[in-house]
Amino acid sequence: MKALVLEEKGRLSLREFDVPGVMGPRDVRIRTHTVGICGSDVHYYTHGKIGHFVVRQPMVLGHEASGTVIEVGEEVRHLQPGDRVCMEPGIPDPTSRASKLGIYNVDPAVTFWATPPVHGCLTPEVIHPAAFTYKLPDTVSFAEGAMVEPFAIGMQAALRARIQPGDIAVVTGAGPIGMMVALAALAGGCAKVVVADLAQPKLDIIGAYDGIQTVNIRNRPLAEAVAEATEGWGADIVFECSGAAPAILSMHQLARPGGAIVLVGMPVDPVPVDIVGLQAKELRVETVFRYANVYDRAIALIASGKVNLRPLISASIPFADSIAGFDRAVEARETDVKLQIVMPE
Ligand SMILES: [Zn+2]
Repeated sequence: MKALVLEEKGRLSLREFDVPGVMGPRDVRIRTHTVGICGSDVHYYTHGKIGHFVVRQPMVLGHEASGTVIEVGEEVRHLQPGDRVCMEPGIPDPTSRASKLGIYNVDPAVTFWATPPVHGCLTPEVIHPAAFTYKLPDTVSFAEGAMVEPFAIGMQAALRARIQPGDIAVVTGAGPIGMMVALAALAGGCAKVVVADLAQPKLDIIGAYDGIQTVNIRNRPLAEAVAEATEGWGADIVFECSGAAPAILSMHQLARPGGAIVLVGMPVDPVPVDIVGLQAKELRVETVFRYANVYDRAIALIASGKVNLRPLISASIPFADSIAGFDRAVEARETDVKLQIVMPE
């Protein structure tokens, strides 16, 4: 089967590549339909590593996927061939201590698609545990199904924030994840979400949603805009999604006394934090790493129409053109949010 293979840093090829795998009794075989290109896939392509995860041998990319079940293991009950599904790309050890605590996203034994040395899903068929494969309602398209993975990070951030109805939130950074966080925060009960970035095209895309107010920090200090939006009190929740050092250093200024900071963005290198600034308001600091137990909720919100991710899909690229698609993702056009690859029928 043909797969999109990252041969080494900076070199992709579309070639025959058989991902090793055997169907177990609790697995399903899925024909992949749509796979989103994620910032992490692009980073492996351009840098060959993320932190201590280093690409040392050819690896199939992709982890944001939807598809159709074509075979089920003998113990699988909730899925059958023909079901349209999306897949959660991280597979923990179900017997691990972290899994037993319900925090399987931080299970040290988790294997995650397209995180070296584990292959991803930009290939026509994948084998996956049924327990991490979710049926899509008829009203949710394959394209939306492939958006569940990045939206799940927004859901995790909203859950960590412990939003109360009517909260006002700030999101620093309007990349794809910042946008997902803003929409999850609204769906989670925020009355208003202020989204800040330097790139006006990104702000225009997210600003088109009801309940979102945007601030271009080239034109206006964010602290001033947040003070105005909250009558000088500060935001209940600050979602830091930029990973940018200046934003992290000043994030406490945006929060109200007793508010919360949720760290979603991942700085490439360690960055300074104003601890006293956090202490002086007794801010609660939460961190997010991937997600656990949110796929069902994310799918339910999309199916209900409360969350519309369709405006964030910027292009659907045929699998045959996926190298060009990745090169477009590397360009990081300010008008692109999510690029998706569609597999041949
Ligand atoms: Zn992703």
